[in-house]
Amino acid sequence: MAGLEDLYREIILDHYRSPRNRGELTVPPAHRVEGFNPLCGDEVVVYLQVEDGVVTDLAISGQGCSISQASASMMSATVKNKPVEAARTLIRSFKAMMSIHEQSLGGDDADTKEEPVTVSPDDLGELAALQGVVKFPVRIKCATLSWNALAQGLDEIAAGVPSTS
Ligand code: ZN
Repeated sequence: MAGLEDLYREIILDHYRSPRNRGELTVPPAHRVEGFNPLCGDEVVVYLQVEDGVVTDLAISGQGCSISQASASMMSATVKNKPVEAARTLIRSFKAMMSIHEQSLGGDDADTKEEPVTVSPDDLGELAALQGVVKFPVRIKCATLSWNALAQGLDEIAAGVPSTS
């Protein structure tokens, strides 16, 4: 399967070199969430705007390793213009893909474990490229950083919590 791994590596590098939706949005009306991964020093700032149950706009800033930044770029491209419920399903699917190995490590996320989700590569599209990360457990938090920030942002918006800024 060397061909597939090469393809996945290309997808990740492409998002790292040409990040999608890079920038900032005005807060408010946008909501701002910061994520930090002390294990690697990755920082991701997610700006998201939700109108009528749809993620109408999304921007990413911050800095960090190629996995964290590529994952944030792929997250933004996948979630933008999707209904919030579809975004939540993607978060669950992505975290399930990433947690398959994390659980066996007895990680500190064990108590926040999501319900099992059947992950089909077709559902995740390009995100499947990040599957290879599970072979490098220290990088899993790099890949999930922006997704956790997105989940926090959607929760805060749903609860009417003001942005952290
Ligand atoms: Zn990292």
